[in-house]
Amino acid sequence: MTAEHKTATASTDSDIAIIGTGPVGATAALFLARAGLTAAFIERYPEVHKLPRAISLDGEIIRGFQRLGLGEEVASLLQPISPGERVGFGNSKREWLFDQTPSPFASNGWQSFNMFDRPELEGYLRDAALTEAGVTAQIGTEASALADKGDRVVIDGKQLDRDDAFRLSAHCLIGCIRRHPFWAKA
Ligand SMILES: Cc1cc2nc3c(=O)[nH]c(=O)nc-3n(C[C@H](O)[C@H](O)[C@H](O)COP(=O)(O)OP(=O)(O)OC[C@H]3O[C@@H](n4cnc5c(N)ncnc54)[C@H](O)[C@@H]3O)c2cc1C
Repeated sequence: MTAEHKTATASTDSDIAIIGTGPVGATAALFLARAGLTAAFIERYPEVHKLPRAISLDGEIIRGFQRLGLGEEVASLLQPISPGERVGFGNSKREWLFDQTPSPFASNGWQSFNMFDRPELEGYLRDAALTEAGVTAQIGTEASALADKGDRVVIDGKQLDRDDAFRLSAHCLIGCIRRHPFWAKA
């Protein structure tokens, strides 16, 4: 269940619009909000994806969250490797294709190699971003077109549950989405 959040509307005046509340969009919103900027999300899916699409992160990533005061909380969601443990990729015969034995702690003090459950971490980041002061969102809305109006960018989309048109404008836009036909054209 996505956290309670302030809804972005057509009249919301935000510094930055962010398309996509994946890990990149959520983290960008947290950094922008902590810098005193307002951010409005557009995200098409009401819930985070249930399938794992990333499985590990290193200590530098945790150091980034440390700057937001979230280092300990993010680290508590991770499964760090044990000293001497091998990590890598294998084939269906369980033969190593490549592997390494990372040192447990990096010079920055955080565990250098950590596995995680992506839906859990992504849900945590999405909720942290959505409940941050200065952040509003349209969840369940798909962006489908952009227009550059000089000092503003206008994003058009559709509220998927109601099939209603939706429009949002902001001073800047960050697209935190992977391949999407309209974004490829933008
Ligand atoms: C099968 C698979 C396995 C992977 N394994 C790994 C791995 O082991 N390690 C690793 O580091 N990386 C892995 N990746 C890559 C990793 O998933 C991506 O790098 C990461 O998800 C990028 O994060 P993101 O926030 O930029 O985008 P995403 O996680 O893709 O999030 C984008 C968000 O934008 C939303 N969105 C998209 N289009 C629109 C639109 N038009 N309007 C509104 N919202 C929209 C989506 O619903 C989504 O919530 C894997 C990817 C896949 C597919």
